[in-house]
Amino acid sequence: MREKLGFVHYSTGDVFRDHIKRKTTVGLEVQEYVTAGKLVPDEVVLEVANAFVSEHTGNVVVFDGFPRTIPQAEGLDRVLEAHERKVDMTVLIDLADDDVVKRLTARRQCRKCKAIFNLEFSPPAREGVCDECAGELYQRDDDKEAVIRDRLRVYHDQTEPLIEYYQDRFRLERIQGEIGRDRVFEEIRKLVEDRG
Ligand code: AMP
Repeated sequence: MREKLGFVHYSTGDVFRDHIKRKTTVGLEVQEYVTAGKLVPDEVVLEVANAFVSEHTGNVVVFDGFPRTIPQAEGLDRVLEAHERKVDMTVLIDLADDDVVKRLTARRQCRKCKAIFNLEFSPPAREGVCDECAGELYQRDDDKEAVIRDRLRVYHDQTEPLIEYYQDRFRLERIQGEIGRDRVFEEIRKLVEDRG
């Protein structure tokens, strides 16, 4: 959860990977799902996310990879409402499935600082070594092609319906994923800055 340019970045995936690494109760509960690229049950996701929201009521938060199902979106709305907050905006990063596979199979992440590199689009200066903290770069188990294809199936089945959910209730912005990671990040930063 790095505080970047005035907002807190909250990635449920990073949080789960951290729990798995530390072998916490949550980590042991979610390990099997995360490794297989399956969705962690909504109750577990919401328990972890609700605790986070309750601790960050004063922050601007960009949720990354959450919510991923309609019950999660409803749960998020409920906890935000309890804190007199609401979703300001949702951002859809649009990318064709084959491009998703191409990007994810080339993705490498730093074990230490979680920085993300891509062997094709943004390779590290030294192979296997993080440019930011010299930590070790690794490929996530769920970034292997067969698992990615499963994750895409889960996405179309359970996460895609959220487009309609958010389109109907809140502001939904679309960013074309082909512009690349850095420009996508820049677009999100601008949207957060100019929200209102
Ligand atoms: P990510 O880093 O966002 O790709 O998430 C990696 C994995 O963590 C996913 O494939 C799921 O197993 C689990 N995960 C992360 N966020 C969620 C979520 N909102 N709902 C269910 N499972 C999740």
